[in-house]
Amino acid sequence: MKNIAIYPGTFDPITNGHIDIIERVCKIFGKVIIAIAKETNKECLFSPEERVHLAEIATKNICNVEVEAFDGLAVDYVKRKGSSVMIRGLRAVSDFEYELQLALANRSLCEDVETVFLTPQSKYLYLSSSMVKQIIKLGGNIKEYVPEAVFNAVKDKMKST
Ligand code: ADP
Repeated sequence: MKNIAIYPGTFDPITNGHIDIIERVCKIFGKVIIAIAKETNKECLFSPEERVHLAEIATKNICNVEVEAFDGLAVDYVKRKGSSVMIRGLRAVSDFEYELQLALANRSLCEDVETVFLTPQSKYLYLSSSMVKQIIKLGGNIKEYVPEAVFNAVKDKMKST
């Protein structure tokens, strides 16, 4: 049961910071499912299907990764998949309060699901999906921080909206 880890999030879009976490998780667990939340209180640039597609392209070289969109509570999805481990990434201090609150809320919803926190290499500590979108929108080059397919998808999306 502990062999599958679920990494839930918005992933709008996936960045190299997320991928850094996924590569670490893959070394610890037999399988990782990137679980893309369909319902989120964030205003997303990409549809759930587009976010899944970009995450699939970005992780195609990592063999034990699957990508799926999910509805409803993340803890329920974790249980449906036969897992008991939810992965979250911790960046700078600013993540801590929110992530702690979320982990405790999830624990009160389901005692059997544990949240495991991993932290990326330091160059990704301040990287977020919203920063990526903002920089690309303003014409900046941040190819070091997102897969090329993601960079192009954000650029195209910005042109069409
Ligand atoms: P959410 O809306 O669920 O916070 P995100 O896609 O923004 O979704 O993030 C999913 C998870 O990945 C969160 O735990 C977040 O802290 C983590 N994360 C986001 N960016 C990075 C990064 N650059 N390095 C490490 N973890 C990250």
